[in-house]
Amino acid sequence: MNKEVITIKIGSNALLGESGKNFDTDIITHLLDDIYKWRKQYHIVLVSSGAVAAGRIVLQKTADTLDRSTLAAVGQMHLIDMYYRLCVERDIVPSQILISREHLTVRENYAHIRHTFQELLHHDIFPIVNENDAVALQGGGFGDNDALAVYAAILSRSDRLIFLTNLDGLYTADPRVDANAEFLERVDNIDQEITAMCSASRSSFGTGGMLSKLRSAKMATTAGIDVHIINGLKTENLSQLLSGEKVGTWFPRIGEDSLSDKKLWLLLGSTSNGQIIVDDGAKEALKQRKSLLAVGIKKVRGKFVQKDFVNILDMQGDTIALGIVDYDSEILSEALKQKKDKESIRRRLPREVVHSDNITLLK
Ligand code: GLU
Repeated sequence: MNKEVITIKIGSNALLGESGKNFDTDIITHLLDDIYKWRKQYHIVLVSSGAVAAGRIVLQKTADTLDRSTLAAVGQMHLIDMYYRLCVERDIVPSQILISREHLTVRENYAHIRHTFQELLHHDIFPIVNENDAVALQGGGFGDNDALAVYAAILSRSDRLIFLTNLDGLYTADPRVDANAEFLERVDNIDQEITAMCSASRSSFGTGGMLSKLRSAKMATTAGIDVHIINGLKTENLSQLLSGEKVGTWFPRIGEDSLSDKKLWLLLGSTSNGQIIVDDGAKEALKQRKSLLAVGIKKVRGKFVQKDFVNILDMQGDTIALGIVDYDSEILSEALKQKKDKESIRRRLPREVVHSDNITLLK
């Protein structure tokens, strides 16, 4: 596969356009025209939301009495039917991949989905991806398709991930209420300052939207993928970006070192809410790709058992790494509570808590 791979994510807001009620056929037709045009140069993967919204469009009033899974089960048909017709008109062979969160926690499944993407792209088949909402438990899935888009980008070995949203990109504040809001063309470091800007404007322009895109951008750039957030309601934007023009906000990929397959899977497989908070010494050791030892742990939050995924946080509350833990949370908490001096902790928990082979650092 020598063409660059690009994952494009379109959210329900962009699909519904200004009306917010029905699919905006202009926007969608334009998107498919662009995909048709750019497929000559790139392999393109589309992550499309809209199943729940389509369920509402099909079922009208009845929709108010139904849950998201039921709406998505109805709406996914409508959504994919629309894409199918548009693809056939353009001589594109489409395919549908519905991913469930838990599939990715099993390494064999992860490898299998990766293989499916490779096969499809190798045969010039156009993958259209969504979450398998009909079977996902409420609260147990990806949450929103921003995270799913990162997964799809990693699974398809994409070089770039483009979010089509209803905003021009990232601002220092909500541009609709703050005249001093500055537009950010490029963000190299998704740190607390940037994240705080989005949380501060949460009620209007955030509502999870930009915040979840920042989280996703952090994961994707760590995995070596360039991320762009552009306004999908301006139909000329995608082509301009792909032609090399500056459009929206760009989050350049971090470093050149590519993560091993296992470390990428670690990034994707993590579904745990378990948290291990580490001190500055342990943070430094992790950066130098060392294992996490019990003496560097300040606190343990949530329940987990040996071999579960855990989030590793620094004392400022930033997630710095993901890993597979070798002790149960109860054993760790108990040991930390009872033994305050480092020597006795070391004696009680002699093995690595998370081995360096099982850690992916978030940069
Ligand atoms: N998978 C959901 C859908 O297709 C995503 C909804 C969202 O982006 O919030 O409707």
